[in-house]
Amino acid sequence: MRILVVEDEPRLLRNLAKALREEGYAVDTAEAGDDGLFKAETYDYDAVVLDVMLPGLDGWQVLDRLRKRKRTPVLMLTARDAPKDRVRGLDTGADDYLVKPFDLEELLARLRALIRRSAGQVQPSLKVGDVLIDTRARSVTRAGEPIVLTAREYAILEYLALHRGKVVSRTELYEHLFDESDDTLSNLLDVHVFGIRKKLGRDLVTTRRGQGYCIE
Ligand code: CA
Repeated sequence: MRILVVEDEPRLLRNLAKALREEGYAVDTAEAGDDGLFKAETYDYDAVVLDVMLPGLDGWQVLDRLRKRKRTPVLMLTARDAPKDRVRGLDTGADDYLVKPFDLEELLARLRALIRRSAGQVQPSLKVGDVLIDTRARSVTRAGEPIVLTAREYAILEYLALHRGKVVSRTELYEHLFDESDDTLSNLLDVHVFGIRKKLGRDLVTTRRGQGYCIE
């Protein structure tokens, strides 16, 4: 899953990006509204964390312009003493909001819920045959036995399972799992899919030649 964080406070931005990467997300960042809007329009993020008070375009303007073109889930960060902001955020098309200062665990939980909802999934765990994926713990069991996946393997499996039944192109996987700072050496999709099959069974992920991957 790939997240865009738009926040102009350098320390908060750094901490958020670090925490999200530790959770296994690919993370892009922007420190101004116009840069954030450009990235949000250019890439298909799984979610955007958008601060309201930003230089250049503010968060409202970014959201308003983005909504004319895209349905990317947006979580707004609003100021504590501005209750009107929350109403405005939801009216403008934000999917959720958090009041600063916020609890990091809450932000992570809300992001997970946003991403699941936008993929049409309500439950935090995904079941594919005897494979159970717990998106809260980011853990996987097969027939009740814990299976250890690498961060990349997990990310690919989760994305395919969230979009079960759909053929996901390699381009889409690249775009959702790797961020702007990734080097190309970590982008070996086939190697990761090989790892998933080795651990969870050959038939779990189907390769559609020339189209992409699919979990039936
Ligand atoms: Ca700000």
